[in-house]
Amino acid sequence: MSSGFSPAERDIYAVLDSADSDVPVCAPADRNAARRLKTAHTFHCSTALGGCGTELTFATGDINIPHFRHRAGVRCALMGSGSITDRYTHLAIQNALRDWIIAMPGFTCQLEVSVEDGRTDVLATGPDFEAALEVQRSQLSGTAARDRTSRYRTRAPAVDWLFESTSIDAFKAEMAERGWSLRVWWGWAKQECRIGVSYQSGDETEPEERAIGGALDDWLLTPGGLDSEHLRKAKQAVADRQEALRRRSEDEAAEAAEQAADKRAREAAARRAALAEDLARVRHYEAQLQGYSVGVDNRWPAKWPVLQGTPKQVRWAAGLRAKVVGFLHEELANNWLNAERGYPVAQWLSEQESAKFWIEHLKNVRDVIDLLRVHEYRG
Ligand SMILES: [Zn+2]
Repeated sequence: MSSGFSPAERDIYAVLDSADSDVPVCAPADRNAARRLKTAHTFHCSTALGGCGTELTFATGDINIPHFRHRAGVRCALMGSGSITDRYTHLAIQNALRDWIIAMPGFTCQLEVSVEDGRTDVLATGPDFEAALEVQRSQLSGTAARDRTSRYRTRAPAVDWLFESTSIDAFKAEMAERGWSLRVWWGWAKQECRIGVSYQSGDETEPEERAIGGALDDWLLTPGGLDSEHLRKAKQAVADRQEALRRRSEDEAAEAAEQAADKRAREAAARRAALAEDLARVRHYEAQLQGYSVGVDNRWPAKWPVLQGTPKQVRWAAGLRAKVVGFLHEELANNWLNAERGYPVAQWLSEQESAKFWIEHLKNVRDVIDLLRVHEYRG
């Protein structure tokens, strides 16, 4: 083996007739087609694509599949660089786009036009506008693509990226940003270029990725860039999806608001029920208090004030008051406690309208002895 590479790595790309030719060719796998091509042309390693420019041998023998071969001893940066397919295919697509553009009435086209430290792949000039088409086959970040777009826009208002693969980061970034992205396909066998569009559809959070497209003649160049029935369909699907997602998030927000309102209503009802219960307890204690006028003489307080404080404090203090006043009344009614000692305490208690006072000073009073002690100290 003098060639030094395996059949899988054989060079199958060349340019026709001269080293600086811009007509790429891929060796046909069919031997007869290869031999027909061979009689009509010479084959060169492309200088425009970074190759050595030497004439290549077109091997169309009976054993190996047809391929191009550098002459022995030639040093070439492009051969075996791993990007041969990319570069020749890129050139083929550029040519196909140019041929399509110049066939449109009023249009001209230039390839590799320098713009602001960069070079656009395809620059189309129409009757009153320019449009740039970028053919992307190799990996490129979304940031790099955006940067190049803004530079090319200084020349052409419309800049469209045509991605050959969905694994390119710039493609993914564009899809994430606007839900659709243009695609390009090239078939060597039929020398056919197609443009399509990948787009997000469906109404699930995780989008369904679809693609439609067709021959170049399905497409138009407009001041806004590439346009076609395919693209309009894709944009409609994206808009429908966004509308569905928007409606769903509205529904979800409305449902959440409804649940929050329900919760607030339940909490308010619980608070009202607690207040009603407090009030009923307080009324119960007040009724008890009124009952304590029996069996004592007219020095017993005729009136007990309405307690002041929060509902919770009032309920607590009313209970304390009913209990404390209860055993004071019992002592006086039964003459267990000297009237001269007892009635001033009853009078003093009947002047305490602060619920807080009752809670702070009378909550630990267990009997009349405790009560007399508090009265001595506070009264
Ligand atoms: Zn070469």
